[in-house]
Parts: sequence; structure tokens; C-alpha cells
Amino acid sequence: MHKVDWNSALEPAYQHALTYLDGLPERPVTPAVTLEELRAALGVPLPQGPQPPGEVVAALAAAAGPGVVASGAGRYFGFVVGGATPAALAADWLTSVWDQNAGLYVLGPSAMVCEEAAAGWAIDLLGLPPQTSAGFVTGAQMANFTALAIGVREVLRRLGRDVDADGLWGAPKVRVLVGGERHGTIDRALRFLGMGKGCAVPVEADDQGRMLASALRETLAAGDGPAIVCAQAGNVNSGAIDPMGEIIDVAHEAGAWVHVDGAFGMWAAASPQLRHMTAGIERADSWAVDAHKWLNVPYDSSLVLCAHPAAHQAAMGARASYLMNAEHGERDAVDYVPEHSRRARGFAVYAALRALGRDGVAELVERNCAMARRFALGLAAGGAEILNEVTLNQVLVRFGSDERTREVLKRVQEDGTCWMSGTTWRGVAAIRISVSNWSTDESDVDRSVDTVLSCAAA
Ligand SMILES: *Cc1c(COP(=O)(O)O)cnc(C)c1O
Repeated sequence: MHKVDWNSALEPAYQHALTYLDGLPERPVTPAVTLEELRAALGVPLPQGPQPPGEVVAALAAAAGPGVVASGAGRYFGFVVGGATPAALAADWLTSVWDQNAGLYVLGPSAMVCEEAAAGWAIDLLGLPPQTSAGFVTGAQMANFTALAIGVREVLRRLGRDVDADGLWGAPKVRVLVGGERHGTIDRALRFLGMGKGCAVPVEADDQGRMLASALRETLAAGDGPAIVCAQAGNVNSGAIDPMGEIIDVAHEAGAWVHVDGAFGMWAAASPQLRHMTAGIERADSWAVDAHKWLNVPYDSSLVLCAHPAAHQAAMGARASYLMNAEHGERDAVDYVPEHSRRARGFAVYAALRALGRDGVAELVERNCAMARRFALGLAAGGAEILNEVTLNQVLVRFGSDERTREVLKRVQEDGTCWMSGTTWRGVAAIRISVSNWSTDESDVDRSVDTVLSCAAA
């Protein structure tokens, strides 16, 4: 067989990557392109015959480039979006090169052992029980889904029900107690699970969005039957973390399963400085924590963690005559995630953690929190109102009225120096700043503060 010319496809990609990444610190973060321009540039007729790969890659890079959001830049503060550290990004490239189907050990021994190692490191950093099992899924949405699937199956199994055989038909209704300020992916997971978002019982939250343990106790006492409590580490607006220890104790006294949605905020547990905010989190039954947000692993990457490995495997496990499941303690990832064939996500998480080290993860989290405080101080000094207690990496900013706040946000987004998104917080409009990028430094924050204040002055 003739030798394939990989280089002609990979070289333009590599050159484009270097130009793009080197340009990130100065590139405007708002794409300057219209929908029509993108459709015209990319929506070309499907070629009749094969095209040279290098030309296709170069044409893709040229046409798509203007519509790429520089969300990996240090001045991108929208939603909760991480960038990609160099080691994680390079490992992600190798993941595509190796193209392992990371469902079974027999399909990718190194992928499975890297997942084992990376999960072990993450569990250690987050202070979770050593026996904790881990699945590498696409995002906290799927981590929440997986954990709730394990939880509902388990609380009903304890009542003698076989959810695998019978589903939820005829089973006692499982109450899912959720904070009033939970993330929408919890409700969405309940929909996917056929439980219906109607089974979510909201529990009062305080002015920062933290579930109140006293309210949880009352709500639990007001009903009966099997229950799951969904706590949250990192409110998507305020960054607030629920009082974990108290909530978990109250929930466990009532026999409930406790799931923690810790999409980004759970990484506070990896910092000796911030760990006190998550105290008690290790006593939960399951956790969702993203790698693509605060750990700055390329999309998509998240971990679902479970304190009950047997329940985890029983809920997710796949068996079929042709599968060649592991028989000697090797890891078959298919046993921990809803996916069957899947990308070997563990490689990038492995590289991210190994390159940062224990101190590097703590430093990344602490520095982002320090930059959030710097934002709040700078904006407040310029006359903005800060709506939340800036305890983590999130800042909620308001300028007088809803109308003015939205107008300032619009100007900031058009300016392109930095990008932030908007929200409604406790009934009022706010600009929402999330400092989640590994590369964000003082100069990024200071430039962004100046931009926001000058947009407000205009
Ligand atoms: C981002 C987020 C999610 C959803 O995570 P994805 O990675 O987007 O699936 C869930 N919960 C919280 C608290 C989040 O911040």
C-alpha cells in the first residue's frame, strides 16, 4: 500500500493552531462576522469528488476562523468557560490521533489506565473517599444525569425494587430535593430519566443561592418515601457553595441519597485556601465535576464520581456476548458512563493534572478567585454595584437599572476587549463575570475593568 501523506493535512492544521493560540492574548474575543458571511464562506456546495486534505483544512481554517469565539483567551468571562492548558490540548490532539474506542479495556488499554490514574488524582485532589468510582462523560449535564440514574436505581433497590427490569412503573415516587437556585441541568436530567421535572421539590435558598439546611430538614420531614437530595457546589451566577456538611448530614439522617452538582465550584476543594468552603463534601454519595470548565481541559470533559462503585457499575454496566468485558480487574469504561463507544477523554484530563500538579491546580483556582475579587474591587471603585458576595470566581455586576445594565453589557460585548454574559439575579438584570481561564492575569482584568467602566460612562 502506498504511504499516506499525513503531513499535508496535519501541517496546515498545526500552523493554523500556532497562529491562533499565539494570537489569543491580543485577539478580540467577540467574532466580527455575520451569520450571512459565515454561511457564504462555509456553506459551499458539496464537492463532487475528493479534495486534497491539506486544501480542505486550510479552507476550513480560513473560512471558520472569523466565526471562532476566542473563549480560550484570558479576557473571556462568559458563562463558565475554561480554556485549554498546553498539556491538555496536546493530549487531546493525541486522543484523536490514537482514536481509541475507550469503552473497553480490550479496545484501549492505555486509555483505560490513564482514566484510572487521572480519576485517582482527581479523587485525591478533591478529598473524596479513595474507593470512589469515576466515569468520564461529556459535561456536568451528563454527569448529573448519570449520578441521578445511579441514585434513583439505588434508593429503589433498597426498597426491594428492580428498576432495571421494571423501570419506574409502579415504584414509590422518588422525591428529588433540589435547591431553589439549582442548575437547569438537574431538571433536564430528571426529564431524560423519565422521572419528570415535576418530581423536583425545591428547597429554599439564601440570598447567595445556597440551599438552607434548615429548610431541607423541614422539606424532608414534610414528605416520605425514597429521596435524593441535590446539593450544589458553585452557583452558576454567584459562585456560592451550599453548606455541604450540614446538608449531607440532614439528608443522610432521612436516608436520602446525596448528589453534589459541583460542575466548577467543586474544584475549590483542591485548594488548601478554599477547601473550608466545601467541608463535608466527601460524605456525599455522588458528584459531578467538570474538567472543561475550571480544570481547563478542552471540550468536552467531565467526571461523574460515586462513593458506591458497585451501584455505579450496576446502573451503567453493559454486557453483551461479543463485548469481551474485562475479567481480571481491568477497567471497562462502559461500566461507568451512559455512552457505549466513546472518545478517550481520560488522556487530556491525565495530562492536565500531571502538568499542573497538586500545587498548580490549587494555584489556578486561587488565582481565578483573586482575579474575581480584583474585578469586583475595580468595578465597585468605578461606581458599579456588586450584587453577590465574591467568594469564588463569579461576580455579578449592576449599573443602576435593568435597562442601563443591559445597555452596558451590550456595549461591552460589541467592544471585543472582553466578553461577559448577562443574567437575572434575584429579579434584577446583572452582568455576569466568570473568571475560569488558566491564563487570566491582572492585566486582563484591569483592561476589562477599564472597558466595562468606559462602556458605562459612554
Ligand atoms: C455548567 C454547569 C452545569 C452543566 O455543565 P455542562 O458541562 O455544561 O454540561 C451543571 N451545573 C452547574 C452548577 C454548572 O455550572
